[in-house]
Amino acid sequence: MQQYISQLNEAQQEPVLQKDGPMIIIAGAGSGKTRVLTIRIAYLMSLGVDAFSILALTFTNKAAREMKNRISQIVGASEAKNLWMGTFHSVFARILRSEADKLGYPSNFTIYDTQDSVRLISAVIKEMQLDKDIYKPKQILSRISSYKNSLITVKAYFNNPELQEQDAMSKKPRLGEIYQNYVERCFKSGAMDFDDLLLKTNELLNRFPDVLAKYQDRFRYILVDEYQDTNHSQYLIVRALSDRFQNICVVGDDAQSIYAFRGANINNILNFQKDYEGVKTYRLEQNYRSTKNIVEAANSIIDKNKTKLDKVVWTANDFGNKIKVHRSITDSEEGRFVASTIWEQKMQNQMINGQFAILYRTNAQSRAMEDALRKRDIPYRIYGGLSFYQRKEIKDVLCYLRLVINPKDEEALIRVINYPARGIGDTTVEKLTIAANHYRRSIFEVMQNIDKIDLKLNSGTKQKLQDFVTMIQSFQVINENQDAFYLADHVSKKTGLVQELKKDATPEGIAKIQNIEELLNGIKDFTEGQKEIDGARGALSEFMEDVALATDLDKDTSDEDRVALMTIHLAKGLEFPYVFVVGMEEDLFPSAMSMSTRSELEEERRLFYVALTRAEKQAYLTYAQSRYRWGKLTDSEPSRFIEEINGEYLEYLTAEETNYRYKPMIDSDIFGDVDKSKLRLAKPIGGTPPKYITDNEPKSDINIRKLKPVSSNAPSGSANLFDNKLTVGNVVMHERFGKGEVINLEGVGADKKAEIKFEVGGIKKLLLRFAKLDVI
Ligand code: ATP
Ligand code: MG
Repeated sequence: MQQYISQLNEAQQEPVLQKDGPMIIIAGAGSGKTRVLTIRIAYLMSLGVDAFSILALTFTNKAAREMKNRISQIVGASEAKNLWMGTFHSVFARILRSEADKLGYPSNFTIYDTQDSVRLISAVIKEMQLDKDIYKPKQILSRISSYKNSLITVKAYFNNPELQEQDAMSKKPRLGEIYQNYVERCFKSGAMDFDDLLLKTNELLNRFPDVLAKYQDRFRYILVDEYQDTNHSQYLIVRALSDRFQNICVVGDDAQSIYAFRGANINNILNFQKDYEGVKTYRLEQNYRSTKNIVEAANSIIDKNKTKLDKVVWTANDFGNKIKVHRSITDSEEGRFVASTIWEQKMQNQMINGQFAILYRTNAQSRAMEDALRKRDIPYRIYGGLSFYQRKEIKDVLCYLRLVINPKDEEALIRVINYPARGIGDTTVEKLTIAANHYRRSIFEVMQNIDKIDLKLNSGTKQKLQDFVTMIQSFQVINENQDAFYLADHVSKKTGLVQELKKDATPEGIAKIQNIEELLNGIKDFTEGQKEIDGARGALSEFMEDVALATDLDKDTSDEDRVALMTIHLAKGLEFPYVFVVGMEEDLFPSAMSMSTRSELEEERRLFYVALTRAEKQAYLTYAQSRYRWGKLTDSEPSRFIEEINGEYLEYLTAEETNYRYKPMIDSDIFGDVDKSKLRLAKPIGGTPPKYITDNEPKSDINIRKLKPVSSNAPSGSANLFDNKLTVGNVVMHERFGKGEVINLEGVGADKKAEIKFEVGGIKKLLLRFAKLDVI
């Protein structure tokens, strides 16, 4: 153990060696906070503290896994395994399962993901005959979520005239009723949403003093990483649990508080000293992650914030290169710059893909980056998009499995009751829903008693409903004796899901079947792993628990070497040698939606601080002068954040430095077989990197690489390359939608759109600028 402690600097050793009492470590990015937590846990164990009595809460499951691995290396895997370690959601879901009956929930309760919640809220809004343009389901969900995270239950809501007035003022006077219906429906389905996992934990600890005492006694040492981003609900749980022993160690950086929009409360860190008696405060000042240039540039940024704790961050690392700033004309050009830079760095410096990260403010920005990376054949992985488990075909299988565990789960039931089609129509489902609400039972229970209730269904329909019930029950029997893999394999076949997908021979259909195979492989891995560990059966319920709380970041189990693409929010706590922060433009970053108040702008600035401090060796800031946003080409100004960095840490890339990169791309790739004699070098505009364009290139970058070459006898100077190519009646192949026929064309230039009737998926309107089409 001593060996690991001696690898820490003195300031880091102190909090590790303080065994008991409340303590807070406030320190800047990259100063070893997470490392201190890890070593501290190993040290506690080396002193004889039982692993079962240590609770460590992290921001992602991935972080928990990494910490556990590291601790395993120090104290051995068999001990480390017993640590209570994970996100708030995963740890407290586990506790809630064993205490569920106290709250009137079954221990096999389902965890609704955001998709389920939004669908249920939409259904409630519809049943209440409200206007969904005013009561926007996603907005309503985020409102309900913020109530839950502030512990405002339905009852508390109705006791609070101010909140009701506030909602009435924003034209949503019936929000409280939606909230109530939503909560009741979740309860009736034996389901909790993400926020419930925290809300119900609070309820459990508040209402049942014996339960509170039990967990206070169990968790003698509590540690929390990224404490600056805990919300009120999480804060209360930590407070309650640590109240008895007061052995609480939290680490955080006020400068990295970036989740206020989701209810995180920076006061939790600022008030920590007041909450416990005799708090020891530690500060770490030495950054080990980044070069001097990066550390000092980041300091110069966060200096602009008024609300902050005074902190010093310095590094003994080299100065390194300056932060490179790159301007491009369009977002696709920005993508090309990033892709070619990665490509070059890999070639010149023998880097691997995994050493690069591309960070952006909004998910929508990933598209331009993806296009460019694909053209360069650089493998990448997007984090935070639709997660694997939310893909339709995967979720269909999972919903059957959810029903096996908890047949009351209405969101699962509604999703699969008639998929694959088995003749149970919408009207029938509507009748079932009404009856279920009326009797305050689940739809499944109504179906089980279909003979006793008069729903005016014909006997054929009744039979189909009974068949469905029998099928699910037969799965339940299998589930009692077999492992999760056997069951999942059986379910995907017996329900007809796989056969249904096999009907679709398009590449998309095949990919879906492959996805299901991947899911089954994952389940197999899980069951085998479980069996190895403790001779367990590898039961389905355990697998489903993992899935329900898996975030995208957690699923990164493949060893493939890929460039990482993610939003800055997701990148918190991570580090990469090379980091590109793209879309450094006003209204995008800082976001137009978050700059009307000082506190919003300061949160954006903290977000930028987080982005920049992910970089170890080299950071790039890129911006485009125009980009497509909401389907429109918009001009943009460079982000104020670039200017806020002390200029001595920046290097503006010049035209010469960036120009040569585009040449090979344009010659061989972008313009396909276009007559190269028609290419000329565009005049640099005010120092803009010169750029090859065609004589008649539309203003924007057009994606024509997959279109057939322009015919050689096309009149020179024709208005738009598309005019030559696409006409109504053309049969085209689209990368994602497959084969289709052009049925209409509209708009001109960069706004030109084609309406295409695809064989699978029906009619779609595509902006030709983006559409990946081959005329066949
Ligand atoms: P963030 O605020 O971004 O979460 P952090 O404060 O948690 O950062 P860590 O991730 O723990 O910082 O550490 C940053 C990097 O510095 C890691 O690669 C870590 O291994 C390394 N590091 C930390 N302390 C030391 C040390 N004493 N000697 C060498 N390397 C260190
Ligand atoms: Mg950290």
